[in-house]
Amino acid sequence: MERGSRIYVAGHLGLVGSAIHRRLRELGYENLILRSEKELDLMRQDKVERFFDKESPEYVFLAAAKVGGVLANSTFPAEFIYNNLAIQTNIIHSSYLYKVKKLLFLGSSCIYPRECPQPMKEGYLLSGYLEQTNEPYAIAKIAGIKMCQSYNRQYGTCFISVMPTNLYGPNDNFNLETSHVLPALIRKFHEAKIESRNEVEVWGTGTPKREFLYVDDLADACVYLMNNYNDSEIVNIGVGKDLTILDLAKLVARVVGFEGAIKLDPSKPDGTLVKRLDVSKLTELGWQAGTPIEEGISQTYKWYLDNYLSRQDRS
Ligand code: GDP
Repeated sequence: MERGSRIYVAGHLGLVGSAIHRRLRELGYENLILRSEKELDLMRQDKVERFFDKESPEYVFLAAAKVGGVLANSTFPAEFIYNNLAIQTNIIHSSYLYKVKKLLFLGSSCIYPRECPQPMKEGYLLSGYLEQTNEPYAIAKIAGIKMCQSYNRQYGTCFISVMPTNLYGPNDNFNLETSHVLPALIRKFHEAKIESRNEVEVWGTGTPKREFLYVDDLADACVYLMNNYNDSEIVNIGVGKDLTILDLAKLVARVVGFEGAIKLDPSKPDGTLVKRLDVSKLTELGWQAGTPIEEGISQTYKWYLDNYLSRQDRS
């Protein structure tokens, strides 16, 4: 990408898209094309095609998606499959029609089989059954990967796909019903601290393990790969280290300053028991995550206090 290239960040108000937007600005890319959901409904094929025709983006970061935690995925499976298939299909096909030079598609580590050997290598895609709780979402993401690969093969496009691990950071979703675990825990511990409660509920058995990548690190990796990777094969983006949900809860409690007890609620779903990415391919390509988890949680907590809470107060 040149500094003046026309770059479209789809989903620039979300967790991932906003981080990519920040990173591109930091690096001096000025010609960014951005549309909110209100300005452009990515579910409508004709609107997306008209937008591409008019704006002619040269590079596309496809970070628009319907995302959510374990509960949201089991409650709204139809929306998770339909919205994601529609959004990504419209953008990928328009990128082909309107001759985008390069597109980067954001997948997810949940594309890998439930019983996947750990850490999960890129080659394990479609080698077994998926985790049930987020299968519709995972199927949509797998379709996106296959679409990028098929377009590259048949039409000679350059559409690359990256698979981030669990993400967190500024602009995260802090709604307790639909969020992922890390922002949920920040909010739960913060509220318990403010209300001087002596107990916080953590879902599941506390034993599942997860890997967490700070979203600014992901954004940095995406820009790096956009500039340095041209292959159809998917690339994992993670930190290569994981921790149990209980250990995560203890860490978040420490950062937030909650001193009470952690109460596990095994009636809530655990989801996949382990989910750690093999990041050796990315390391060989010359990129490594830089933000330690404690630092990332502090930054996210700060964002929650400075932005999320004040926004809530105003509404
Ligand atoms: P997943 O990584 O796709 O399974 O999605 P989540 O981030 O929602 O959940 C990860 C793990 O954290 C699961 O084992 C959840 O049961 C557990 N967890 C513990 N407390 C919470 C919570 O308050 N919210 C969410 N979303 N997950 C929680």
